[in-house]
Amino acid sequence: RAMRLMSQQSAPPTPTSFAVWFEYSLGNSLALRKTIDILIAGKRKFDPAINHELYITYVTPHSGVDPLSDLPDQLSGLLATAQQFLNTAVTDNQTHIKALGEVSSEAAADADPRTIIAKLVDELSKATTRAATLEANFAATSEELDSIRDSLKAAEQRSNTDALTGLANRHSMDEFLRLAQIAAMEKDESLSVFLIDIDHFKKFNDDYGHQVGDQVLRLVAKVLQEGVREVDLAARYGGEELIAVLPGADLEACTSVAERVRRRIAEAKLTRRATGKEIGSITVSIGVAQFRLAESADNMIERCDRGLYQAKRLGRNRTVTETELEPEAGAA
Ligand code: GH3
Ligand code: MG
Ligand code: MG
Repeated sequence: RAMRLMSQQSAPPTPTSFAVWFEYSLGNSLALRKTIDILIAGKRKFDPAINHELYITYVTPHSGVDPLSDLPDQLSGLLATAQQFLNTAVTDNQTHIKALGEVSSEAAADADPRTIIAKLVDELSKATTRAATLEANFAATSEELDSIRDSLKAAEQRSNTDALTGLANRHSMDEFLRLAQIAAMEKDESLSVFLIDIDHFKKFNDDYGHQVGDQVLRLVAKVLQEGVREVDLAARYGGEELIAVLPGADLEACTSVAERVRRRIAEAKLTRRATGKEIGSITVSIGVAQFRLAESADNMIERCDRGLYQAKRLGRNRTVTETELEPEAGAA
């Protein structure tokens, strides 16, 4: 029930949100029921902020449970429904077989053939009706499950994607990188990352307006996405900073991808949509780093960041890899 409500209300598919809707479905808290009913009646969007507020107010004080641990219960609820249908089907089938058995023993006892035929026809038509009802029930349930699954998938997709650029967002990049680090260690493979920052973007926004700025950001995102392989991840790291995670790539391979992306961005012709007039070109600076066994993601990205700022200092529109980093102030 909670999952269906969440998908109906486009609530975010997070553990806390699930806890709220699960609590609502249980109906233990009148205050929560009332609040949510009012919000639904007012057609309010259950965005993460509202769900968080509901969670803090109505769920945390009296439940010390991890919301995720309730999830399997919900799924087993759905399974129980399916099981129920199956049990009914089996029982019906047994009744039907028993009835047919009676008819056949009457036949063996040489009863009137017309009575036997009438009984057979009657039993068969009952069985057909029962089968049709069951089939309809099954179809309705699986359709409902399909639609719940589709809505949850769509919501999950939204929560992993950056709305402006269409790239993966920071959250899904973190998760991708975490798994990529584990895979790199397990398979003893390379893993590299490069961080992109648009040059003088503040001035670009000032000169052409934020909307044109957004268009440029989308273009940079598109070039980045097209410049990496299917197995790589391109994501929006923050404001005007994008990141690419390249499993299996060493520093050299990653740097050549980064350089190709950088050149394509610099070569892109920018035209103003409204007027079709050409506007100034755009460049980016890039920092590249390769994963070191067991280090944290933050650590690796920090080296990208240092490369990035060195690229800015050296005049922008360039790529600096971690091997080119000048020693940090204070380091030997
Ligand atoms: P630098 O070459 O040193 O990177 O200069 P910069 O102006 O790009 O650097 P700074 O970090 O000072 O400014 C980043 C600017 O990026 C500030 C902000 O206006 C712009 N920006 C960040 N996010 C967005 C966005 O989503 N859309 C638009 N249009 N601009 C953004
Ligand atoms: Mg920046
Ligand atoms: Mg910048």
